[in-house]
Amino acid sequence: MDTIHTPSQNHDEKSEIIGRLKSLQKISFELDQVIEWSDFYRLIVESARTYLGADRICFMLLTNNQQYIQPTVGVDKHGQVVSYFNDYPFLVETYADWIKSGLKNRQRISIRHNAPLYEGQGEVVGIGWNAIALCIQADEILGLIVLDNLLTQKSIIDSELEIFSLYASLIGEHIIRRKNFELLQEQNNLLRQKQADLQAEQQKQRKFLSRLQNLHHVAVELEMTSSVTELCKQVITLGRSELGFDRLGLFFVDEETQHISGTYGTDIEGNVQDISKIQMSYFDTLSWVREGLEKRDLVGVRDNVSLCSVVENPEIGWNAMALCVQGKQFIGWIAADNYVRKEPLADGDIELLSRYANLVASFVIQKRESERLENNRNLLGIALKSAAMLAWSYDWSTNLFEYDSTSTDLFSFQNLNEFLEMVFLEDQSSVATVFQSSFPFDETESKLRKVEFRYYAPNNEICWASIVSQLESDTESNTPKRMHGILYDITEHKLAQQRELELALERQRLLTYNEFLANISHDLKTPLTVISTSSYLIGRTTSDEAIHKRIETINGQINKMLEHIQDILTITRLDSNAPVKEEAYSLETIIKQSETRLQTIAKEKGVLLTTDLDVNLKPMVGDPHLFERLVTNLIANAINYNRQSGSVTVIAKDLHDRFKFEVADTGIGIDETNLENIFKRYYRAPNGTKHSSGTGLGLAIVKTITERYGGTIEVSSIVNQGSCFTVILPYHYKTTP
Ligand code: ADP
Repeated sequence: MDTIHTPSQNHDEKSEIIGRLKSLQKISFELDQVIEWSDFYRLIVESARTYLGADRICFMLLTNNQQYIQPTVGVDKHGQVVSYFNDYPFLVETYADWIKSGLKNRQRISIRHNAPLYEGQGEVVGIGWNAIALCIQADEILGLIVLDNLLTQKSIIDSELEIFSLYASLIGEHIIRRKNFELLQEQNNLLRQKQADLQAEQQKQRKFLSRLQNLHHVAVELEMTSSVTELCKQVITLGRSELGFDRLGLFFVDEETQHISGTYGTDIEGNVQDISKIQMSYFDTLSWVREGLEKRDLVGVRDNVSLCSVVENPEIGWNAMALCVQGKQFIGWIAADNYVRKEPLADGDIELLSRYANLVASFVIQKRESERLENNRNLLGIALKSAAMLAWSYDWSTNLFEYDSTSTDLFSFQNLNEFLEMVFLEDQSSVATVFQSSFPFDETESKLRKVEFRYYAPNNEICWASIVSQLESDTESNTPKRMHGILYDITEHKLAQQRELELALERQRLLTYNEFLANISHDLKTPLTVISTSSYLIGRTTSDEAIHKRIETINGQINKMLEHIQDILTITRLDSNAPVKEEAYSLETIIKQSETRLQTIAKEKGVLLTTDLDVNLKPMVGDPHLFERLVTNLIANAINYNRQSGSVTVIAKDLHDRFKFEVADTGIGIDETNLENIFKRYYRAPNGTKHSSGTGLGLAIVKTITERYGGTIEVSSIVNQGSCFTVILPYHYKTTP
């Protein structure tokens, strides 16, 4: 490489140098003002020529890991500033050795004198000095300026060279500054972009949120609709006005019949339209809709399609469908498109449509259910009204009833007390039990409760009613919550029942009466036959003794008949409910008299008859004859149905306001199957017939007398061991006729 030429510096040169140094500042300022890189490169060249006295100058960039040199702007052989951006970069390797070594050694400035001067791709255009100054910044060579004196042929002094070297490093500084500035700007732009994106996203979110809020308002409005039809119409109206959809249509699907029916939609002018005429089979729907329905896709969207549902004038746009599903229940779908307003699909449209469809599904299900309930309620109301029944509901916490007072005017009450006041006094406690509940709530309490009771009708007549109810508990607290039931008048039914009962009794009485007559005739026939035969034989007999015997037989039969007739008279009198005597008499006397009378028979039968009478027995009020019958019948039976050498014990004991009369024997006893029958009229146990020729009326009379005087009779017996009859009677009982 040539050495740098250093001519002696005179005063002019000095001031020239100073001027150029000052110019560096000016150039630096101007370079700062330039925005485009191309203008920056051009200014490098032009400023060097204008202010620094450069002849030919070219600024080159070192690129690609400092392996290539890219000329930017330079001066051609004619002195014209030209741009080399379209030229290919040169490989550093292909450069002259002095430049290569300058670069390699990072020699800030190198010069060659009397060297060939080049133009473009290696054309030699003259001879002169040729210098390069490196733009080094932080150890990196960013570019270089190449200078020569082809045009002016002026020599160069060291200080001038030094200025170019300073210029090169100034350019390096500017490049770094510009690059940093660019980087900063890029980062700023990135940041700004991010901010803008964020704002756009927030805006989107806000918009979606406000649409969601509208969905909430729409839900409130839909809630207020009174029928499924009105609901469907509002779904379309509000979907358009509040949620911003363009055209909407709501279709129902009946899953069982696979039938589709339209409800409300939007016409091509954007008016809500009744589309209930659209009735079709599942298979007649548009294929993409059917596919969506079959796959149960919650939403389906198609963009840039022909909106061919509008057959007259199809347009290109988007359409979508969202299934109306709630849980497992699927009721249909909402269709949407942009036919009227032609607005593109907006963010959140589909999400909103899907949510709307869900909401609609829940309302449709709810409204259908309440319509069904309402229908049932109306039907029930008609049924209850026609049956004059009152359906009521009772609230445990408020103690109040709720019912439709128009269904019957028989009952009128507000709370439990008012209800109970209506009830006949004696039935109040049984009615009150219907409204009782234990705590905690017992499962069995949820069963149906039913009670019949008498009540005072508005005209104060006593009528009959029936109440059927069921308790409903609060599942959380397990306490009674409400009670539901029906109340209805059963007076007619009760009267009919009573008439039926009376009729049955009457029939029974007639039957008994007939039986009674048959038995009497039969029982009287036997002694009468004996009497008739005996009287016939008296006529044929001459012996006094024989006549006397026959008369005795006749008397015996007459006594039997009299006894029998007496039994019949007693029982008929008791049956007729004729008033009985209410006079005071001594129990002791009656019992003693009977005992005395029956002792003879007892002795005849070899039976020991004893009595044990309480000294505290009080006087008895009633009919002494009836009581005497009672005592005699029981003691006579005990003697008659006894065994040889048996015994009969009669006990009478005071029980304060009542007394006990007991007849125990050691006789044949009564087996269990016959025990329940022995009080029936004319009943005679098979094991007793050979012991006594009774009528079978004795115990029936005893029982009727006991009951007539408000007493009880009990019997215990062991076959072949004996029986014990116990009668308990009040001393004084007011008999009711
Ligand atoms: P009867 O006229 O037959 O005695 P009752 O009405 O007095 O009619 O008695 C009905 C039947 O009850 C009797 O026929 C007899 O079979 C049975 N009976 C009554 N009292 C006794 C008794 N103390 N021991 C065993 N059987 C008895």
